[in-house]
Amino acid sequence: MAKIDTLPPLREVIRTHDLHARKSMGQNFLLDLNLTAKIARQAGDLTGCDILEIGPGPGGLTRGLLSEGARHVLAIEKDARCLPALAEIAQAYGDRLTVIEGDALEIDPLAHLTPPIRVAANLPYNVGTELLVRWLTPSAWPPFWQSLTLMFQREVAERIVARPGSKAYGRLAILAQWRADARIVLQLPPEAFTPPPKVSSSVVHLNALDAPRYPADAKVLSRVVAAAFNQRRKMLRAALKGTAPDIEDRLIAAGLKPTDRAEQIPLEGFCALAREIAKT
Ligand code: SAM
Repeated sequence: MAKIDTLPPLREVIRTHDLHARKSMGQNFLLDLNLTAKIARQAGDLTGCDILEIGPGPGGLTRGLLSEGARHVLAIEKDARCLPALAEIAQAYGDRLTVIEGDALEIDPLAHLTPPIRVAANLPYNVGTELLVRWLTPSAWPPFWQSLTLMFQREVAERIVARPGSKAYGRLAILAQWRADARIVLQLPPEAFTPPPKVSSSVVHLNALDAPRYPADAKVLSRVVAAAFNQRRKMLRAALKGTAPDIEDRLIAAGLKPTDRAEQIPLEGFCALAREIAKT
């Protein structure tokens, strides 16, 4: 077991604070500090950055982020049982860790963060996907974050980096690749976690682009893409019927064939369509 700081090993922390994992909280903990430091390194140079960590749990990744030199970590954790263990980390690392108890979907962390800001998290996948979509779709760009380093089920990670024509291509690929460079940087087997989940996991790293690759309104693009992939086997003219009364004309004006299917349309095509649909 690696010793990246003077704190006790994570298995001992879990025993001391009785942090048996709860399924209802999506808890699968990373207890190998070598691995959490490696994940932290995927977030890039942390010195001089504030890190927003969602779901620190017993603090494995938190310790990795701090030992890798993060200027400050703001961690949001829903499970109050984890707070005493996190308080020990805060004490060991001086004023470099702040913990907020609560639901990351409800809390606005920005008041507690100073740019440049990076985000790192190992979250239950449904919360992770919801947050990822929110982080990718603010109306203004660039966003508050420089990069996102996030653990997902492998299948979800593959959807984020998928290319047109593949089964995994859909809303997540388009929203992620529209405004960021997205790469899978690490693959983790179930045994890396305690308890092991049923599926493998991947760490995805997204760097925010200075500007979106193609102009489009985030809300309109999200709506169009959600509708197009909701019925991915249908032709676009049928799948998008509800988005505009003259959808066939708008598809043609965007340079698309009404008989195409969503899976075949590259990012550029969806952005062109979102611009056509946004016209009054
Ligand atoms: N980061 C730790 C690690 O890698 O070992 C814990 C990972 S565990 C998969 C997910 C963590 O997110 C748990 O500590 C859980 O309590 C927390 N969590 C779940 N839903 C949350 C939410 N909506 N807001 C904040 N934390 C949440």
